Amino acid sequence: MKNKRILVTGGAGFLGSHLCDRLVSEEADVLCLDNFFTGSKENIKHLMDHKNFEIIRHDLVEPILLEVDQIYNLACPASPIHYQYNAVKTVKTNVMGMINMLGLAKRVKARILQASTSEVYGDPKEHPQKESYWGNVNCIGLRSCYDEGKRVAETLMLDYHRQNGVDIRIVRIFNTYGPRMAVSDGRVVSNFIIQALNGQPITIYGDGSQTRSFCYVSDMIEGMIRMMNCEGFIGPVNLGNPNEFSIKELAELVLEITGSESKMERKPLPENDPTQRQPDISLAKEKLNWEPAIQLRRGLKKTIKYFKDVLTRSCG
Ligand code: NAD
Ligand code: UDP
Repeated sequence: MKNKRILVTGGAGFLGSHLCDRLVSEEADVLCLDNFFTGSKENIKHLMDHKNFEIIRHDLVEPILLEVDQIYNLACPASPIHYQYNAVKTVKTNVMGMINMLGLAKRVKARILQASTSEVYGDPKEHPQKESYWGNVNCIGLRSCYDEGKRVAETLMLDYHRQNGVDIRIVRIFNTYGPRMAVSDGRVVSNFIIQALNGQPITIYGDGSQTRSFCYVSDMIEGMIRMMNCEGFIGPVNLGNPNEFSIKELAELVLEITGSESKMERKPLPENDPTQRQPDISLAKEKLNWEPAIQLRRGLKKTIKYFKDVLTRSCG
């Protein structure tokens, strides 16, 4: 990676900022592009003065001309409350943003990796989910702007590859958590930790029996970098931790580790909330020699420590 010019869209977000850290540490020349919708300067402020790091404030929906060797396309709000806030914009980011990045990759002959998602499987009828599964997605529901947006983005990736020979890589990311998730993010891990630390009720949507498989951020970044730099395999490949937990089990674990006295409080289950989700990562193991190393208890401890610091700082 040394001296490679690498564009990270969504580079000021949760995953993007960790990716920028790792690429800068490998001596790549990193261009971080972000419109700061859900990302923040706080996530990348420690990189600002680094000679191998630059920031561009730009909205991916508009075309941009840059000279780069690799593109990691992460720009897109990932939390349901944020991607549903302006659903049309989410579709535009996934479709027009993807076209802009593929056009750029085609012009400068850069390799492009798309951060796709387990949401392309929708509410899956196959369990665990393999890459060969076509999914069960509602195309007119509240989550469609994201799910269908990401599905079209994958379509565009393959069509530019077949039609124009663009060098593509696709990773399907399953629920990932860790330091630098925004306090206002709204996804389950950060919500539960903040609620537990503040002594507020833990908000369980539905009966808490729905499942997710949680991957720690450093494992995810390792998988993404391996995929970008592997030869002869374009994906899609699932990246995630295959250990599956119900949302109620997650709440209990957060309460145990934080030692919080918070009570659990039931809230309505959001529309089309998938009932179960677990990646089959055989392909990632075979092609990338990758599997997660950090299990939930350990990852939660690190994340809880991070949020404790953030909350202490914000209290003055
Ligand atoms: P995030 O919301 O923290 O980061 C997204 C970043 O993209 C933010 O910095 C935001 O400001 C930026 N952005 C959004 N729209 C933009 C636009 N139009 N132009 C420029 N920048 C824009 O989310 P994250 O968890 O870091 O997710 C990063 C990527 O990974 C997303 O594409 C997401 O769909 C994908 N992903 C994440 C997870 C996960 O569990 N974290 C799971 C599946 C897929
Ligand atoms: N969830 C919950 N309480 C919260 C936030 C989320 O019970 O405060 C549930 C949500 O309904 C879903 C799961 O946790 O079943 C994961 O939600 P998240 O938004 O983190 O990710 P996604 O649904 O996109 O996997």
